[in-house]
Amino acid sequence: MKILVAEQAGFCFGVKRALKLIDEFQRQGKTIQTYGPLIHNTPVLNDLAARGIGQVSPSDAIARDKVLCIRTHGIPRDAERRLRRRGVPLLDATCPLVKKVQKVIERLGRNGAPVLIVGDPAHPEIVAARSYARNVRVIDSLAAAQALPRLREAGVVAQTTLDTDFFRQVVAALVERCQKLHVVNTVCQATQDRQEAVRKLAERVDAVVVVGSRTSSNTKKLYQIARAKNRRALWIETADDLRRGRAAARLRAFRRVGLAAGASTSPQELDNVKKFLQKL
Ligand code: SF4
Repeated sequence: MKILVAEQAGFCFGVKRALKLIDEFQRQGKTIQTYGPLIHNTPVLNDLAARGIGQVSPSDAIARDKVLCIRTHGIPRDAERRLRRRGVPLLDATCPLVKKVQKVIERLGRNGAPVLIVGDPAHPEIVAARSYARNVRVIDSLAAAQALPRLREAGVVAQTTLDTDFFRQVVAALVERCQKLHVVNTVCQATQDRQEAVRKLAERVDAVVVVGSRTSSNTKKLYQIARAKNRRALWIETADDLRRGRAAARLRAFRRVGLAAGASTSPQELDNVKKFLQKL
């Protein structure tokens, strides 16, 4: 079996940066906890927990003698202000590209015009981002965009991990609803690169294995793109998922298998899956 790895796969810049910041702080002897999961990848979170880096939720009593690390997705503006007021030492690991979206939302909403965010309203990045303007609506489907009342002026941005084709479709629908629409495509480059890589890969192979956690929004999009191009797309979290199920037996029959991974999947995990496939 030949294994072809997507040109762009695994850890993105924002995830690498967050983990590096944590390493540096831990080397300085600081005790760290994260405000919710740092990233959406279970093996990486397990590894952090094994190093004594646990998570706290907004409803927990947050200690002031530990450094509180803000997740890559960011947190709502009010929550951050409250923590600063209380004197909780913060390590801000919000991805700079997520911060950029927050700034764009703030700018677009400055004159009171509605800001439309295309994405998942329940995703922590969007929960945080929407706090940066007063008049925000989250659009999670084409139908929701088509159902909007007519607007004189609006701004529109995307969740950083959105499928770029979906963003274009929604913007096309919004153009029909808004007299003046300010569009800022905020899908991050790492997401676009991984989506493009899996699109190309899925057409060249008999089956595609996408590696990443179920909670990872960008991995889900990669899987959906792979599946649209190749019916034999499979989504796993770790090599163990292949060991347990019947997938390995099915993959054995193929000559060329593609391997892709979400932006929060570690190189080690990708390598584990590759080695497992090589032995089939
Ligand atoms: S996927 Fe993009 S926005 Fe999200 S952490 Fe990675 S680089 Fe930042």
